[in-house]
Amino acid sequence: MSGILTYALHYQGAFNKNSLGAVSEGAKLAAELGGEAAAVVVGGDDLTDELCASLGRYGASKVYRVRGPEGLAQPVVDAMAKVIQEHGYDYALFGGGLLGFEVGAGLSARLRAGVVMEVTEVKVQDGRLVATRPVLQDSALVDSGYVGSPGIVIGRLNAFDAVERNGAAAQVIDVDVEFQPHSQKARMVKRGEQRGADINIEDAEIIVAGGRGLGQPEGFKMLEELAELMGGAVAATRAVVDAGWYPYSAQIGQTGKTVAPKLYLAAGISGAIQHKVGMQNSENIVAINKDPNAPIFEFCDLGVVGDLHKIVPKLIEALRARRN
Ligand code: FAD
Repeated sequence: MSGILTYALHYQGAFNKNSLGAVSEGAKLAAELGGEAAAVVVGGDDLTDELCASLGRYGASKVYRVRGPEGLAQPVVDAMAKVIQEHGYDYALFGGGLLGFEVGAGLSARLRAGVVMEVTEVKVQDGRLVATRPVLQDSALVDSGYVGSPGIVIGRLNAFDAVERNGAAAQVIDVDVEFQPHSQKARMVKRGEQRGADINIEDAEIIVAGGRGLGQPEGFKMLEELAELMGGAVAATRAVVDAGWYPYSAQIGQTGKTVAPKLYLAAGISGAIQHKVGMQNSENIVAINKDPNAPIFEFCDLGVVGDLHKIVPKLIEALRARRN
């Protein structure tokens, strides 16, 4: 069977957006290749027929359901390897995020398959997939093709949009997988909520955004205090989200959210084009940056050249004094 196999991660009866993006992208590409779009799901009793079949809405025609531990990479590697070996899919495609990276890399090692990571775009050329990924700190793009099959594509987090296609319900096929001994050595102890899950930056009239200039994750505590005093929300650049300093839900830009608040205060943000597209429609942009040549000074309304670690505490102090 030629086609594209994706992996769909679920939690509490719903598939995550990043996975739905992968399923949707896989379906689009499979149609262009003239092959089948299918997905693998791994989990317990909450993987009902109805939930699995719902992936048809995103273009999957078949869903291979494997009963096993959910949210862990190695059992998914076992499941995907088995389905690919038995059904001969040409490509495996993953959304980004930690699990996508771990499963995709593990599958590549297991099947000795070529893998391209951090992919931002996939196209079909001469009947084969070509994956585009940024390199050299995102300053250039590289196109990679695959030699042999399967080829493995791992997207950047949310690189693929989840598009509903009015597809028919997917056919659900149960697959028994004998998990490898090493795949059973990890178990899920606890699942926690991400910090900042309640941030609603899209509705905020005031946004205080932080970038790599904060120097370390703790820098966000200062911004949270400032935002609280101003009645605003905290946002972040991709650089700091990728570094794990702040949750993805707060990322502004091309691969994050688009906002247009009354005030956007950017601290330690260079103003890269991919960030700018997410906040350029803000009514007032104020930038604090120690580099007078930072690109953000070319499009902000008020630019402050200086060290944010000196300026932000002064702002906090002044606002506190006004409150008292
Ligand atoms: P940097 O570019 O490293 O800038 C840090 C800034 O802080 C510098 O200008 C520095 O002068 C200043 N600074 C340092 N110390 C201090 C200090 N003490 N006081 C004051 N200023 C200081 N980026 C996004 O933000 N959102 C996206 O959605 C996004 N999507 C992308 C999609 C693609 C396909 C690609 C290729 C890139 C994307 N990027 C995105 C990344 C983007 O290109 C930049 O790399 C990123 O925005 C840079 O983040 P930054 O400004 O925090 O870091």
